[in-house]
Amino acid sequence: MRYEGTIYRPPSEARSLIIQVTIGCSHNKCTFCSMYKDKTFRVRDFEDVLDDLKMAKEAYGRVDRIFYADGDALCLSNEKLLKLLSETKRIFPEVKRITSYGSPLDVLRKTDEELKALQKAGLDMVYIGAESGDEEILKAINKGATRDEIIEGVRRLEKALIKTSVTFISGLGGKKNFKEHGINSGTMISQMEPSYVGLLTLMVERNTPLYEDVKEGTFKLLSPLEVMEETLLLLENINVSKKCVFRSNHASNYFSLRGDLPQDKDRMMNEIKEVIKSEGMLKDERFRML
Ligand code: SF4
Repeated sequence: MRYEGTIYRPPSEARSLIIQVTIGCSHNKCTFCSMYKDKTFRVRDFEDVLDDLKMAKEAYGRVDRIFYADGDALCLSNEKLLKLLSETKRIFPEVKRITSYGSPLDVLRKTDEELKALQKAGLDMVYIGAESGDEEILKAINKGATRDEIIEGVRRLEKALIKTSVTFISGLGGKKNFKEHGINSGTMISQMEPSYVGLLTLMVERNTPLYEDVKEGTFKLLSPLEVMEETLLLLENINVSKKCVFRSNHASNYFSLRGDLPQDKDRMMNEIKEVIKSEGMLKDERFRML
């Protein structure tokens, strides 16, 4: 495969064929993110993407899962996305799941009919980085989308039967806003009802604006115990009426949680309370990674 730069994909796409449809992220301004800083955003030529699909067919034969990279492949026009999905299915008729990253604004630019057309053409799931449900934190991290826009984007995808997997980042409000971050992220999940929620824990990388804030002391990182207290607040405030798979088992997390909401909410909250009582169960800082 001909990959340009470092390739990022969600943990659950570890076994997927990754096809680069765009290079970089069209937003590329979140203060905590270093992923695509070395890339200038562009949409790849369709013929190049098609060649990659054909090369993958020759190399691997059958493929069950395909993930369209980089940052937000959903920013393509529906016409291009439908052509891409059609060619993907023609080359890999056996494919069971096609997914991509997407931003809430990508979704809001599309009509309900366009989203439904993408679902019918085979787009199964979109990964969305909400990061926080708190409006002030979203502004501070320069997310480029408001709480309401993120909620609407997720709800419209789910309505079109395209599953969503929404990521939040523990600790993103720092010491100053950790309660707001926990509570408002929980209520946001309740309002948007995604199929999946993934919770990572903030790790500040050197080449980011947030690193400078930490260095200057204007942003104070949470202790591992405060992260757990924040997660407890988040869970406490999730009230969903349909199944939502909750995962907090990323390499950056101090403690792994996994369950289906709403039925496993009490069990997961009790696990966190136990962890808060016995600090020893938390992952050592040395073993955390992004
Ligand atoms: S967090 Fe997502 S939207 Fe923000 S800059 Fe990074 S890749 Fe782009």
